[in-house]
Amino acid sequence: MNKAIVVGSINMDIVAFVQDHPKTGETIFGREVKYFPGGKGSNQAVSCKRLGSETLMIGRLGDDAFGGQLLAFQQQQGIDISGVRQLENTATGAAFITVADSADNSIVVVPGANALWDDGFIDELTIEQGDIVLAQFEIPDTVIEKTFNKAKAVGAMTILNPTPVRTINADIRNSTDLIVVNEHELAALSGREIDVHKDDTIFNGAARLHQEDYGTIIVTLGDKGARLVQAGQKHAIAARPVSAVDTTGAGDTFIGGIAAGLLSGLDLIRACELANIAASISVTREGAAASIPSLDEVNKLLRKRGHM
Ligand code: ATP
Repeated sequence: MNKAIVVGSINMDIVAFVQDHPKTGETIFGREVKYFPGGKGSNQAVSCKRLGSETLMIGRLGDDAFGGQLLAFQQQQGIDISGVRQLENTATGAAFITVADSADNSIVVVPGANALWDDGFIDELTIEQGDIVLAQFEIPDTVIEKTFNKAKAVGAMTILNPTPVRTINADIRNSTDLIVVNEHELAALSGREIDVHKDDTIFNGAARLHQEDYGTIIVTLGDKGARLVQAGQKHAIAARPVSAVDTTGAGDTFIGGIAAGLLSGLDLIRACELANIAASISVTREGAAASIPSLDEVNKLLRKRGHM
């Protein structure tokens, strides 16, 4: 059976709930602190697994207490953690988030072990024809290049989620089959103004990336759903109307849904429909990884909508 292989970041998200954000030099009391397993790589791996695919995580943790907790968390999800290493005398990646009563947040991400990889991992990694390899931009380019090149050499598919957005180098671009971006990343990569209320601006921006050999493009648009551009075809997927309470991790849920859907034999449009429903459920719940639904929950809704 083919699997999803996620090469990416693993973080501990430390969230302090405060009335107002502290000003420079100020010390304030917070109301509550919560610890959430996070990192785009880890979230996408959880999504792949919950939505039905065998999943291998490739990542780097520190040898501190968070490292042990995050490894245990991934194992509890049923993710194959044989590609995760704990580096000696290194801090695990962490995101320090303050959430104010106004719901605004401010975030400091310290990559820690996520930025420290040596080349050895690529020799140990087995990728098979038909597997799907996913990467995001919270880890070094060289790691993505090596993994995607190996994936393409054996006939696996590659999905890139270039966030936080930076230039996509030619080596990564040439070995990417599908990229998934939101409207801000699309604007940054295409150099075009994107108006989420105007489909032509989205399709034109995506078509521009498609012409420049970025592969197939999926643009996620929050409560406006998603748009797909592949080999001259355009397709719109409307969002399922819901009352959103926390959209953190919606994009990660969506991407895991695409990989899991494709691995189960769906075509790309059907996989996007599954991903869209999964992500719409995730925004009705708090947290990132914690909010990702199971395949059963998604299938029930797909059946109701006549998609199965
Ligand atoms: P994040 O960085 O928070 O994960 P993102 O910008 O990468 O988010 P979005 O485009 O906000 O991702 O959302 C991804 C998908 O989640 C959307 O394409 C849609 O399917 C679903 N979604 C997000 N927000 C809503 C919403 N309010 N109602 C219904 N579906 C939603």
